[in-house]
Amino acid sequence: MDSLKIENLTVTVNNKIILKDFNLEIKSGEIHAIMGPNGTGKSTLTKVIMGDPTYKIKKGKIFLNNQDITKMPVDQRARLGIFLGMQLPYEIEGVSNADFLRTALRSKDENFKLYSFIKELDQKVKDLKMNPDMIHRGINEGFSGGERKKNEILQMHILKPKIVLLDEIDSGLDVDSLKIVGNSVMDYYKEKKPAILLVTHYQRLLDYIKPDFVHVMDCGHIVKSGDASLVKEIEKFGYDKIKKSSETKLEETKINE
Ligand code: ADP
Ligand code: MG
Repeated sequence: MDSLKIENLTVTVNNKIILKDFNLEIKSGEIHAIMGPNGTGKSTLTKVIMGDPTYKIKKGKIFLNNQDITKMPVDQRARLGIFLGMQLPYEIEGVSNADFLRTALRSKDENFKLYSFIKELDQKVKDLKMNPDMIHRGINEGFSGGERKKNEILQMHILKPKIVLLDEIDSGLDVDSLKIVGNSVMDYYKEKKPAILLVTHYQRLLDYIKPDFVHVMDCGHIVKSGDASLVKEIEKFGYDKIKKSSETKLEETKINE
């Protein structure tokens, strides 16, 4: 069983506190949804877990299976099985999707088999109803918002992570693509039982991917946690009421990095 534990994490960017004393533990087989107003640090949280050096960790630690990974570089975290499907996936010219995935797999799997890789890639491209050319194009080069999101899910299937972070994977998807992506994530979940941390604004994604835990984030930390029924509460009352009922406030004061 795998566990990702975030302990008292305080994170800054440009001397501004973004995450403050943040705590969360996610384990294999659990689906956690993080919701909350814009600009509260949800994407920052996912990027910090992945090891993005833009963000400075001032305090606290991140553990994967009791190993302290707080200072570990991104590529090592990826090899240990952490995966981030980004809110705004980057475009990388000159490296094709297929090359990228093949290189990533080779670096972590000594028993890499080219034939099975190609077969699996073709199958997943079909399942996700992606254009087959896309695997030979530069990563996300000229892809629409929805195609980029599908491409993130394709990477997840091929890389087979244990800890899956999905940041607004539903944004930019039309209703049909949302269903394909939602069901595709659930298929992966049923097969591999990873830990999933999902950032979303909408119930519509959670109709497909059913969370065990829902957390509302505001001002850099979790202000309320509950089960899936919390989503209905948010839709009915909005974040404001949930925010007001919590006493947390993030200091606006800048601190020195
Ligand atoms: P959310 O995903 O909850 O909408 P983010 O984590 O993207 O929020 O951003 C939280 C806050 O941190 C915002 O005020 C945002 O402008 C700021 N922020 C995030 N990344 C950077 C960055 N690289 N440089 C400057 N400010 C940033
Ligand atoms: Mg975000």
